[in-house]
Amino acid sequence: MIMKPKGCENEVRILEALGQGVTPETMEEPLRSHLASCPYCAEMISVYELFQADSRQLCAAAPLPNAGRVWWRASLAARQAAANRALRPILIAERIALAIGGGALIALLVLAAPWLAGQLTRLKIFSTTVVYSFSLSSLIVSSIIACLLLMAGALYTLWAEK
Ligand SMILES: [Zn+2]
Repeated sequence: MIMKPKGCENEVRILEALGQGVTPETMEEPLRSHLASCPYCAEMISVYELFQADSRQLCAAAPLPNAGRVWWRASLAARQAAANRALRPILIAERIALAIGGGALIALLVLAAPWLAGQLTRLKIFSTTVVYSFSLSSLIVSSIIACLLLMAGALYTLWAEK
């Protein structure tokens, strides 16, 4: 049964040199010749170099795409927030304009109601009083109700937006 050596008395000195950035090739002479003859220290060096290469690879590969992705996501979120902020007043203005336009249309109908009633009476299909009282009053009432409903709807959507 082959017993592996438990360690080497030069282990600490070699690790210290490696920690100071000294490569096995540039190590002081007693240690450099020792590395050539000691399998334990040679193995330790190879493991150390493997870890160094691994960490270099991780540092080179992993953080850069991560930073780029984080930056990309942050800029995307900022752009979306800016777009929402820019669109919000436009949406509110659009709704107000819609409500005003609807109100104006209904007001026009209300104002045009007497003229409309006059036109209807001129047709002489119905008696003057019946047509006038029916058409005008019903138009005014329905217009007012429609206007109030539209305003309430616009106000509700504005409220819901908040
Ligand atoms: Zn050794």
